[in-house]
Amino acid sequence: MSKARVSIVKTDAKPDYPEIHSAVRHALDLIGGIETLIKPGDLVLINPSWVAPPVEREAGCITIPEVPRALADMVRCLDARPVIAESSAVGVDSEKVIQQSGYRVLQEMGYEIVNLKAQKASLEIHVANGKVFETLECWAMVQQADVIISVPKLKTHDQTEMTCAIKKLKGLLTDKAKKAMHQEGLFEGVVDLLSAIKPQLAVVDAIICQEGVGPIFGKPVEMNLILAGKDLVAVDATCARLIGYDPAETLLTVNANARGLGVMDSDQIEVVGESLNNVKRRFLRAIEDDPVEMEGFNLIHGEATCTGCRNTVMSALIDMRNADQLRYLPGVTVVTGDAPLPADVAQKDLVSVGLCMKEKADRHVKGCPPNNALVVKAIIGDRAEVKRMYADESLDKTD
Ligand code: SF4
Repeated sequence: MSKARVSIVKTDAKPDYPEIHSAVRHALDLIGGIETLIKPGDLVLINPSWVAPPVEREAGCITIPEVPRALADMVRCLDARPVIAESSAVGVDSEKVIQQSGYRVLQEMGYEIVNLKAQKASLEIHVANGKVFETLECWAMVQQADVIISVPKLKTHDQTEMTCAIKKLKGLLTDKAKKAMHQEGLFEGVVDLLSAIKPQLAVVDAIICQEGVGPIFGKPVEMNLILAGKDLVAVDATCARLIGYDPAETLLTVNANARGLGVMDSDQIEVVGESLNNVKRRFLRAIEDDPVEMEGFNLIHGEATCTGCRNTVMSALIDMRNADQLRYLPGVTVVTGDAPLPADVAQKDLVSVGLCMKEKADRHVKGCPPNNALVVKAIIGDRAEVKRMYADESLDKTD
């Protein structure tokens, strides 16, 4: 059986557009080229990550514009129509990301840049054999596209360990569907999405990545790499190895592989271009980044608590610190996983988190993993407004 090919190409530090175009071209040539995927007249949806500000290139938060631009130029040369389209995280105004990140400049140059959130048309796409969803509400362009290309930024993630080609696809969902995914089950829900829309290609912006508490507030890491592959599971498995994970630790990759949507074992993947050993670097994991400690605050994780809830709570605490709200922590006990509620703590001081909790406190945060902002809200209660660090809408409007 032929192996899935994943290419790794090194760029110079701080590459300019011609260098990035050349690296993307080389990465695609190494996996057999883009020409076999695209016919004249095709609508090609190029889907970068615009999760949220900060949009500065050095922050490593969103896909830099030159990577999708290079793809758009190649698609045009094949007489097809490239559209660079995405919707940011729930509550984030994608227009601001476009304006502040360089995508507006691309628009002014004549590239078709689409803020999906501003598109009124959405539709339910069917998920054959979905594990969480039978249908998913996507933007209409997802169904109109002949070819979908995932163009993620490589980052560690506070709920899913890593975000790359598969997780990035959530930007093709409406905000309502994004929220449902967090409440009903992220780890199989995203794989339902992958199985329904079947992107044909991934090109990873791993020029400046992010480690620690990604996908927004992590620390930038200069890697100067472009990766590409037609099997998104193989791409994510290779990126996992690149940043120091065994792919078996990254549940989205595991679940997608288990459903036959791609391969993750190293003996089924041919890495071409740079050797993985020469360019890999262990990234700080979200759980290892900058723990928040506060006297009088108790955090109880059950034995069954997975990284999803561990990272969610950690990320919520970091959000509170960034918003100068740590003073609301003393007296509160947060419980996750299968841990019993402590009998010696009053109900009013308890917050239970996640679908795994058998006993629920009056202040319970549902979801698997739950939304960080809802954990903050449960901790703070009515004492203050939840300050969403990167969203413009209030929490109430986006719940
Ligand atoms: S609810 Fe359970 S399975 Fe889901 S993220 Fe939390 S601990 Fe993990």
